[in-house]
Amino acid sequence: MKKLELTCIRCPIGCHLVVTKNDKGEVSVVGNSCPRGEEYGRQEITEPRRTITTIKSFKDGTISLKTDIPVKKEQYFEVLDAIESQKTKNNYKIGDIFIKNVLGTHSNIVVTGIHHEE
Ligand code: SF4
Repeated sequence: MKKLELTCIRCPIGCHLVVTKNDKGEVSVVGNSCPRGEEYGRQEITEPRRTITTIKSFKDGTISLKTDIPVKKEQYFEVLDAIESQKTKNNYKIGDIFIKNVLGTHSNIVVTGIHHEE
């Protein structure tokens, strides 16, 4: 049996969840106050996902980047490698897609901030 204790992050209330998965693969979630907590708990024990944020240098400074859809936790470092090896342009604007459908995850890497060096 696998057991996780975690805080639901789907809203600011932050319910304490206890999630278990038995040997038959059956999942139980307790401690949630609404269905979103159950969905979050089930996802965390079966296929956890993470939003990735990072920065990258380009000609005039640095850009902040973020996945627009959380990716599987196990792909975290592969996605960071893909961002690192992606060539940069000379100019960016907020909302630009830096990498479309990164590694076939259906998540885009989006520019969320631009920091120009003086
Ligand atoms: S279980 Fe529902 S009420 Fe509790 S933190 Fe998650 S989303 Fe909010």
